[in-house]
Order: sequence, then C-alpha cells, then structure tokens
Amino acid sequence: MRNSIWDPTAKTAAESAAESWRARPAAQQPEWPDADELRSVTAGLEKSPPLVFAAECDLLRRRMAAVARGEAVLLQGGDCAETFAGTTTDGIHGKLKTLLQMAAVLTHAAALPVVKIGRMAGQYAKPRSQNQEHRDGVTLPSYRGDAVNGLEFTAASRRPDPQRLRKMYEASTTTLNLVRALTTGGFADLSQVHAWNRGFVADSHVGEQYEELADEIDRSLAFMKACGVDTRELGTAEFFVGHEGLLLDYEAALTRTEAESGRTYATSAHLLWIGERTRDLDGAHVEYFSRIDNPIAVKLGPTTSPDTVLGLLDRLDPDRDPGRLTFVVRAGAERIRDLLPTLVEKVNAEGAQVCWVSDPMHGNTITAASGHKTRRFDAILDEVRGFVEVHDALGSHPGGIHVELTGDDVTECVGGGNAVLAEELHHRYETACDPRLNHTQSLDLAFRLARMYRE
Ligand code: PEP
Ligand code: MN
Repeated sequence: MRNSIWDPTAKTAAESAAESWRARPAAQQPEWPDADELRSVTAGLEKSPPLVFAAECDLLRRRMAAVARGEAVLLQGGDCAETFAGTTTDGIHGKLKTLLQMAAVLTHAAALPVVKIGRMAGQYAKPRSQNQEHRDGVTLPSYRGDAVNGLEFTAASRRPDPQRLRKMYEASTTTLNLVRALTTGGFADLSQVHAWNRGFVADSHVGEQYEELADEIDRSLAFMKACGVDTRELGTAEFFVGHEGLLLDYEAALTRTEAESGRTYATSAHLLWIGERTRDLDGAHVEYFSRIDNPIAVKLGPTTSPDTVLGLLDRLDPDRDPGRLTFVVRAGAERIRDLLPTLVEKVNAEGAQVCWVSDPMHGNTITAASGHKTRRFDAILDEVRGFVEVHDALGSHPGGIHVELTGDDVTECVGGGNAVLAEELHHRYETACDPRLNHTQSLDLAFRLARMYRE
C-alpha cells in the first residue's frame, strides 16, 4: 500500500515522470535474463514504502541552495560500491564517524555549515567501461554492483539477477535506519566528534601537524559552553543520503508523486546523481532526472565541453533554481585548472547558480605495478587544490567535495600522512570497485581542505 501522503490517483504525473525515459536509449543497464521476473520485482517495489520523504528532499534542496550561494559547503562520501555483505553495524558506523569528523573540521575552518551526504544506503550499482572481464582465459560479464550481480568470478555469480533489486532496497533500508538512529541518537554530539578528532591528532603521526587547528576548536567549544550552549543539543546531525541513479527500472519503481504539492520524487535517496557515462543529453537518464523534483547532480569528466554543460543546465535546471543542480567535476589533477574556468564562466553567464563540487577521485585512477587499481593521495589533493584555486580566481564558490572513503584501515590509495606504500596495497585491499581513502587519509584530506578554505 502506498502511504496516504503519496497520491494514488495522481498516476498521470507520476507515471509520465517515471516512464518517459523508456522511449530513450538507456546506457549501462543490465541485460536481465528474465523480463517477467524483473517486472514482478519492480511491481513489488512500487507497492513498498518510500525510503525518504518529499519534505526531506526539499530541505536538502534548500541546503544545496545555500551551497550554490556560497553560504555552505558540501561533504559527500562513502564507498565506490556498497555491498550487501558490507551492510554491518561497524561498516556503517565507521563511514558515518569519518564523515562527521571531517565535517567538524570543515565547519570550523570554513566558518560555514557543512551539508553532509553519505554516498550510502543505495550505492549498489556500477557503470562499467568494459562489459566483460577476462581472467586466466575465462571471460565473464563484468561486475555491475551488488544490485545487479555478484563480485565473485563465476558464471553463476556474474549472471544479472533481478531479485537483487529487492535486496538493494532492503540493504538501503537497513543502512538508512542505522544512519538515522546514529545521527539523531547522540552519536553525532559535537564534543564527542571533536574528541575523536583529538584522538586522531594525538595518536597519529600525520595528525600532529593539525594540533593548532584542533586547539582552536577546543577553544570554540569552551566558548560555546561558557555562553551556555549545551553541545549535547547539537547531538543531532542533519545527514542525507545519495547514490548514482543508474538503474532506471529501480528508480522508476520508487518514484512517487506527493498528493499535496503534485511534485514527483525519487524516493530511493535524497539526492541522485548522473554518472559520467550516462549523461547523454538525449539519453534516458537525463530524461528521468528532468522529471523528478529532488536535488540532483551530474558528474563532469575531463572531456566535458561547455556546450554539454549548457545543454545539461537547460534540460535539468531550466528555471535556474539554486540548489536544484550540482556539477561534480572529476577532471583529474592534470586537467582541472584548464577545464574548469570556462565551464564556470559559461554557467555564470547563463545566470544560473549551481553548486560546484570536486570529485578528486575518478580522474586520478591509476594501475599500480602490482595490478591494483589505485589513486595517489597527492594527486587527489592536487585536484582539490586546483578546484579551489580556479574558484578563488573567478570569485566563485568552491562548493565542496565528493569522495570515496571508508572508516576502515584499508590500503587502497597510496600516500597520505601515514603513507600507504604501493607495495602495501595488497595488505587490506577490500573494495568491490574503486580504491577508497581509509580513515586516516580521509581526515588528512579534511584537515588539508580546511586549510585551503582558510587561505
Ligand atoms: C563513481 O562515482 O563511482 C563513478 C563511476 O563515477 P563517474 O561516473 O564520475 O565515473
Ligand atoms: Mn567509483
């Protein structure tokens, strides 16, 4: 049964919103072996409760409008690919803790609110540049995320299974439930978060250099306390979730029209983004995203032309509504300083106020001698620095970062303060897809970004 606030009679708006994409080419969709089984799974999802509500999506849109105006900063992070097996208390707890720690540092340094979005509770589908994977003379379909098939390299596991869409919904629900409990149940208390950061500064070699900033935060907290502010009242963190809106059958099945406003929302997450490989202006993804009222984002890679950006603006933000559209630039450290200025200038000339966010991960992926896909911490930092420099030069706002990270002590990216060496990648290389920053590297990045916002 649909929740009564979602209008069961507003079929026309909801259906056209959810279905118009079907007339367009949809890139990166799985080849489901059984269309009837897919329909039966999506029919079940259509009757299932939404994961998020319209008012929450509207609130995030207002928060993103503040980012667009230069009055807030965005921090988005989480796994490249969440997995069903990774839906554990420790895993979710670790990512959330890392993001809250990063946010505390950034809030203080930028002296602006930090809008926090987990790349969580729905990040189960992956676009792939190769349809097939070859190993030791065996060729099988590529892994496309737990929403589609299994990571294990066997024919049975790599076969797309529509029942996984139901599991994606359930894993998202479980994750979101814990995220909501932790962010409202005292875990996010600012003094507590700062105490964790103090631990990082005291216990790790890399943290030492951030002592001064941590001392300043101590003094700010003491000042707030002296003024009678009880930081336990700040124990509730506003936290949103988002994922790549890749699998349109899944997203369409969870699209709802709100009775009161007549507005239509993807209810699988607060924010959805379109990936670099699916942002074709005439394609199904842009069409679907043009019909939903959530805040949305689009990834922009190194070859993005100004015309493409203006086309996306017209299709996805025709009303030039601040907070509606975020451009997540992932040009690579080498390209960012050349590419970004023109794109920002063209968008400004249109009178649009979008959020500009840096994804310093996806343009900096390399293969190590050991064969591991990895990223150098220095390249990641250099792309973020380039992104901030360009905005400073243009007088526009560097809206924030979108990163792949985990709370665990993995060895997937090389470098950072407690440097992970290329020879050590195999120690704890656990990602199901792209290499993530570990807990220490994530905090290191946050402290360094904090300095950039200060300068
Ligand atoms: C991702 O975010 O994991 C991803 C595939 O990014 P992009 O679309 O930018 O390549
Ligand atoms: Mn990735």
